[in-house]
Amino acid sequence: MKARIHAPTLSNLQRLAAVLRRGGLVAIPTETVYGLAAHALDAKACRAIFQAKGRPANDPLIVHVLDLAHAEELAEFNDAARQVARRFWPGPLTIVLPKKSCVPGIVTSGGDTVALRAPAHPLARQLLRLAGVPLAAPSANPFSYISPTTAAHVQQGLGRRIRHILDGGSCTVGVESTVLDLANPSKPRILRPGAITAAQLAKVLKRKVPTKTRSAKSTARLLSPGLLDRHYSPRTSLRLTGRPAAGKLTALIFLRQPAGRQPANVYWLSQRGALDEIARNLYRVLREADTGGYREIQLEKLPATAGGLAAALNDRMKRAAAKL
Ligand code: AMP
Ligand code: MG
Repeated sequence: MKARIHAPTLSNLQRLAAVLRRGGLVAIPTETVYGLAAHALDAKACRAIFQAKGRPANDPLIVHVLDLAHAEELAEFNDAARQVARRFWPGPLTIVLPKKSCVPGIVTSGGDTVALRAPAHPLARQLLRLAGVPLAAPSANPFSYISPTTAAHVQQGLGRRIRHILDGGSCTVGVESTVLDLANPSKPRILRPGAITAAQLAKVLKRKVPTKTRSAKSTARLLSPGLLDRHYSPRTSLRLTGRPAAGKLTALIFLRQPAGRQPANVYWLSQRGALDEIARNLYRVLREADTGGYREIQLEKLPATAGGLAAALNDRMKRAAAKL
């Protein structure tokens, strides 16, 4: 059986909210990527997320809430966490904090911290409101494959393992949220770069916010599996390069649209190189190249200039290209 893709009508949203309340799974759009959602306080429902994704149990889930007030029911907030939540929620920022006892261990992989985010996507918010429960939702893809940014991507990856997909069109950010560890507020650190940058966080927190770069060991409980060396990866061998150049059976992905007519193996991530456009298109184009029957994909590296989405994009591109 294949999953149903539901148009975002009010009656469909009400039906899907009921599915979630009674422990079912629904793939939902968010502004970052599509998430595979379940009732976060229902351990059995959350276990089904791990099963559907083939996700190892040591890879904790992000819990989605409407706002700070709902988040405070699930975690012990400190002033620093309240400040960044007030500034960046709803939005692509996940905050890691000590969990309260109502959060089941399956969600946090047995750990004593929980990752929380208030999404900005209007459909995610409406579903949270209608369901009236927090929603655990990792990306709606088979573990370690490219994240989905359309309902069709979810269908391709999980269509035979889940029943419901809510269609919200294409994700507007296109890369996963920034994960900020504030369990110790005097030592904030970024576990995964995203659209909310270290500079933006440092400004609000009035201290440096380093990014943890060392990759996690897959045997230990993962601090942030987004930090696994290989993640977000196509099945086709992928090489990051300064200058994609034709080879037989090679897909070439450029940062900006090359001038003139291009052969079918040439792809691009933006018209003029704008980072937000590159982020929106990265996963879609990687998927297209991955299913094009090529022996190799060459992906053009970002230039060395930093700022904005550059850290998140460099991170995803490197991990997508990493070898097992
Ligand atoms: P995904 O939603 O599939 O993009 O993955 C969720 C991300 O949130 C992963 O990188 C997790 O490691 C991270 N995460 C979730 N819970 C925690 C936690 N308690 N501590 C650290 N990172 C977490
Ligand atoms: Mg993921």
